[in-house]
Amino acid sequence: MSDRGLSRRQYLTTVGGTAVTLSVAGCSGDGGSGGDGGSEQTITAGTAPGFPPFEMKEGGELVGFDIDLLEAVVEQTDYSFEGWEEFEFDSLIPALTNNNIDVIAAGMTINEKRDDTIDFSDPYYSSDQAIVVRADGDFAPESLSDLADRPIGAQKGTTGEGVVQDELVGQEITESQYNAYDNYVLAIQDLENGNVDAVVIDVPVANTFAANRPVEVAFVYETGEKFGFGVRTDDDARQEALNAGLSTVREDGTYEELTQKWFGE
Ligand code: GLN
Repeated sequence: MSDRGLSRRQYLTTVGGTAVTLSVAGCSGDGGSGGDGGSEQTITAGTAPGFPPFEMKEGGELVGFDIDLLEAVVEQTDYSFEGWEEFEFDSLIPALTNNNIDVIAAGMTINEKRDDTIDFSDPYYSSDQAIVVRADGDFAPESLSDLADRPIGAQKGTTGEGVVQDELVGQEITESQYNAYDNYVLAIQDLENGNVDAVVIDVPVANTFAANRPVEVAFVYETGEKFGFGVRTDDDARQEALNAGLSTVREDGTYEELTQKWFGE
């Protein structure tokens, strides 16, 4: 009696008559093609392009640091990667809790408010908020109080919006002087057009826009944020797998390669 015989018999017990063709699959680890029953072992990721260099569209293709990093991390796990779904940033958490996606990879800051609804992987990047202005130089704020009575933009549902709401609205600016955008690309366009005088946005993304468009970072407001991958609160298995994968890609040099590629650092 061999082990092989035993496992085949277990197969027959589990899946009945169809096991004749499936029994070979027992040695292959299934590769995700074993039918519809595999959703336990798959990851569909969600992101919000328009946040360069973390995620953006280039020639119709979704690219960026988060895209490469998450795919490299999932590669280290037993999960098979099913692909990307795109959303506006403030629809990502609902998409996760509704099971439309399994992981959020969107430069999302780990914070207490979000931690009530979802869980996060270990941190994979740090950021502060930048105050971005037009590069022509006639408005050069140095602190939040210099933004008084100016129209200010940020992306809906972000920590940048949080800075505007908590530090500016009702103090330096009125409610109607805050312009909330579905994505940061629209906010930066409105800054270029003169419809807002500053945009509050994560530093690495601000630097990317500044390198490619007529805008510049006026000053940095320190928030000490850390980005993590979002997972459902009850999904300890994916959380642990992602954390293990993250530490592997940090150790094997992949993480450093990717920061080089996307941030030149
Ligand atoms: N880090 C910010 C946040 O979590 C912005 C993220 C984003 O716009 N993709 O709110």
